[in-house]
Amino acid sequence: MTDTTVDDATVTTGIPGVGELLALPPGPVDLGAVDPEGTPGFTGGKRDGKAALEAMADEMVELQTKLAADAYTGGHRRLLLVLQGMDTSGKGGVVKHAVGLFDAGGVRIRSFGAPTPEELAHDFLWRIERETPQAGQIGIFDRSHYEDVLIGRVRSLAPPEEIERRYGAINDFERRLVDDGTVVVKCLLHISADEQRERLLARLDDPRKRWKFRPEDVDDRALWDDYRAAYEVALERCSTEWAPWYVVPSNRKWYRTLAVASLLRDALRSMELRWPEPDYDVEEQRRRLEADDR
Ligand code: AMP
Ligand code: MG
Repeated sequence: MTDTTVDDATVTTGIPGVGELLALPPGPVDLGAVDPEGTPGFTGGKRDGKAALEAMADEMVELQTKLAADAYTGGHRRLLLVLQGMDTSGKGGVVKHAVGLFDAGGVRIRSFGAPTPEELAHDFLWRIERETPQAGQIGIFDRSHYEDVLIGRVRSLAPPEEIERRYGAINDFERRLVDDGTVVVKCLLHISADEQRERLLARLDDPRKRWKFRPEDVDDRALWDDYRAAYEVALERCSTEWAPWYVVPSNRKWYRTLAVASLLRDALRSMELRWPEPDYDVEEQRRRLEADDR
């Protein structure tokens, strides 16, 4: 767990190699084979997990600043995090605690709820394409185009042949994003049905959380197995070499947050961003300033 040197002190930071640990194995997807209680790649407990997250903060901001600097000097790179999961799986918690490590100014967060009549009049990707991150930005999708093959499939919101068409359309869309300089990180926050019941009950118990509860959450929960099956199809058909899916065990909130933060860090590292070379002569500008004694 010691992989980064900060200020000459070796500290525990993030989960090394998290991508390989959470990537789907090739072949049919079986979510039942992934333990939602698991903590792959991390042997410590909650306290250690929180410390390992905190220890990532400086590097996360430095990587983000390099990304912004790259765009400032004409680069095209950008990052997109796609968050999916059942109600209460912790998408909001990830935004708050993992994405919260970044400077808010360079982050663009978009939540996708049920489409408006205007959105429904367009292709399902129309509202999504408008919200993809600009060069230098970190984009976050709290739910995404995947809803159109998840709730869309489970509740038959479109004809079967249209649902069928969407998997390929998603892969083509994500391919275009990648060709355009985007690193796409897709995370399924994987919780158990028992854990969801506890979390929904907690929302009812606490007057400060009741606003997050909707009776439809219980309707969706009744379709748990159908959602599970729809997720398995989506993950199998849309986990591509250019935009792989990660299944993040999410019953333990601290692990979920640490794992997603680690995936984001590794995605930014993979860009091999360099501080841009100035297009002016540093020494000449220094001399000008030193000669100016106003
Ligand atoms: P929440 O994320 O809990 O605020 O809820 C958003 C709701 O919008 C969820 O029930 C989603 O399933 C629903 N939703 C998101 N995208 C779509 C979509 N494309 N079609 C239908 N429902 C959607
Ligand atoms: Mg909800």
